[in-house]
Amino acid sequence: MADLLSIAEAQQLVLERAGPLPAENVPLEGAARRVLAEPARAEIDLPPFPSSAMDGYAVRADETPGRLRIEARIAAGNPATVALEPGQAMGIATGGVVPDGADAVIPIEYVVELGNDIEIAGAIESGDNVRPRGGDIRAGEVVVEAGSVLTPARLGALAAAGIPQVRCARRPRAAVLPTGTELRRPGEPLAAGEIYEANGLILSAQLEAAGAVVELMPAVGDDEAAHRGALEHALGADVVVTSGGVSVGPHDLVRRVEAELGVEEVFWRVSVKPGKPIAFGVRERTLVFGLPGNPVSALVGFVLFVEPAIRALQGVPDPLPRFDRGRLVAARRRNPERDELVRARLRRSEDGPLLEPLSGQESHMIARSAGADALVFVPRGDGELGDGASVDYLRLE
Ligand code: AMP
Ligand code: MG
Repeated sequence: MADLLSIAEAQQLVLERAGPLPAENVPLEGAARRVLAEPARAEIDLPPFPSSAMDGYAVRADETPGRLRIEARIAAGNPATVALEPGQAMGIATGGVVPDGADAVIPIEYVVELGNDIEIAGAIESGDNVRPRGGDIRAGEVVVEAGSVLTPARLGALAAAGIPQVRCARRPRAAVLPTGTELRRPGEPLAAGEIYEANGLILSAQLEAAGAVVELMPAVGDDEAAHRGALEHALGADVVVTSGGVSVGPHDLVRRVEAELGVEEVFWRVSVKPGKPIAFGVRERTLVFGLPGNPVSALVGFVLFVEPAIRALQGVPDPLPRFDRGRLVAARRRNPERDELVRARLRRSEDGPLLEPLSGQESHMIARSAGADALVFVPRGDGELGDGASVDYLRLE
């Protein structure tokens, strides 16, 4: 088993084949969580004009302290049509255009209004409470870099800079195909030997969260013709994710039928627990993942291998899962041959994140996995990781 690929080697083989999809125009309203394919540049100086940071009076700083005549009042959204002359002040709202001739805004709390005049007791400095034109960003400068995921803050930045649409890699289209004669949908009665189909939903939800557009296909039985028909359809997508049927049993047909349909296998089996019999291949630009049928294996295989591909197809520059550091709260024996991902409950403490492995780590135990918030990475090797050992973990979200 020493010749099995490591997780990192297998991830590399996937990412080598997962370049960004062609870019398309995306209106900002539909761009949340999308990934920028090109840098987005400001259409305007931001702010577009010198604007007031306070409700107060626009003044000439060198006329403070002093008594000034209120010449006009400027609300936000009004153009400043007249310049401020010596001896004058103009009432101004937050966001109002600071008129030519004024170089500071005195907040309303610092003045005394006397009829049509204001009395300013203290001196203020030139520039006080004025947001200069272009002080946030200048027209033509990059607001958001290529490869960035469009978070709410970045969407706001793009909108404020006057950008109505952006270029993003097309969202990957993914087909999910559960395989197994024994699978029934929840709600249907179970005959002897049958179980409920779980992987289709797990994988569809994971794919959508990663940014793919998903087609969840009905489960196919372990029958070559059924596999062929369903896989032919699935191979029209950018990414095919099957579950089940990739082990060594006589009913494990996925790899064989895929080969007949022109899928070139890149690897089969990785040194990971759970999920060892994962298969990966390509047909032209379509990436084809065969995840094992045990639901926890499918879940883990997705996180390690499929999700990075989905992110890479969208142009994320560092698509691999990002582990955090925490501490085990119980000793954990290492597997001598395979790196292991252990389901754990995550607790925050004053000493940082604590990870408590769940009882029941077998790969069919999806119900117990419902209690897990994290996958703890336990590197293969001899002996154990002791109570309190520092470990890498991934949040399950
Ligand atoms: P396989 O990889 O096809 O040998 O399946 C391994 C185990 O996972 C078997 O016990 C299957 O019944 C179970 N299994 C396969 N597919 C699913 C699925 N979609 N949902 C739940 N369990 C499954
Ligand atoms: Mg099966």
